[in-house]
Amino acid sequence: MRKPKLKYALLALVLCTSALSLHAQNDGIPVTSMSRLRNVAGDTAQFNQQSKLQYDQMLNEAHKKDAVATERNPQLIRLRAIAKRLIPYAARWNPDAAKWDWQVNLLKSDTVNAFCMPGGRIAFYNGILVKLNLTDDEVAMVMGHEIAHALREHAREQAGKNAVTNVGARILGALGSAYFGVDPRVGDAAAGVVAKGAALSYSRGDESEADLVGMDLAARAGFDPRAGIALWQKMGQVNQRQPIGFLSTHPTSKDRIQNMQDHMHLVLPVYARAKGLDPNKLPAYHSIALPRS
Ligand SMILES: [Zn+2]
Repeated sequence: MRKPKLKYALLALVLCTSALSLHAQNDGIPVTSMSRLRNVAGDTAQFNQQSKLQYDQMLNEAHKKDAVATERNPQLIRLRAIAKRLIPYAARWNPDAAKWDWQVNLLKSDTVNAFCMPGGRIAFYNGILVKLNLTDDEVAMVMGHEIAHALREHAREQAGKNAVTNVGARILGALGSAYFGVDPRVGDAAAGVVAKGAALSYSRGDESEADLVGMDLAARAGFDPRAGIALWQKMGQVNQRQPIGFLSTHPTSKDRIQNMQDHMHLVLPVYARAKGLDPNKLPAYHSIALPRS
């Protein structure tokens, strides 16, 4: 008589665990289907391969100018540790991401910018870390936002909108390279870095999606999604002192912050769960003030 009881208990346990994991996947920012326009730009594998060439070319140019941080650079170690926490949650937004050859590099440049090219190739400029005094949560928000553009294939979508049907033929041209978030025409004289990242601007809809997907990725990895609000407020303040590159392609606005605030109730419970905290008793988020100069 005992056996069936045990069987039911086990069955209940299995059902309970699967309900939990299902719940874990369904909360947060809802996953929507991706724009069909991206298919106009050709095959994903080909697109990602071309973007790898662009990234390697950019790194080569930067290496020649001694502008790539070495493996032992503490800021690079920090960036890679943050990426390692975010990446496991990427496949929720694009199943292909599980197979991507992810890379993270730090460019020794004062430029306030960061980007993630199709296929998961991330670069941060030192300027964004230093001039904004970013906390780890804020770095995760920038990285999550940039990863989200790659995951949701916004570059392919943009290329599709521009009716680029043969990416391979265009990639070596200045116009084509802009589609991959790096514009080699624009030199960064101060640091001697030839490539200036994130020359690509996306639509408002893509920007809004990247903000929300980025918050979702960060929250699952245990980074406070409220850092997103602090980040954009800091961006606005720094930009008042001196226009920054990141804002030329990412206009800051009340809409952007409002959109993040409107969705905060969806991601805060995800963050609380990741940290093992009570969602109703989360301590306030504390940013770090901007440097004085
Ligand atoms: Zn963006």
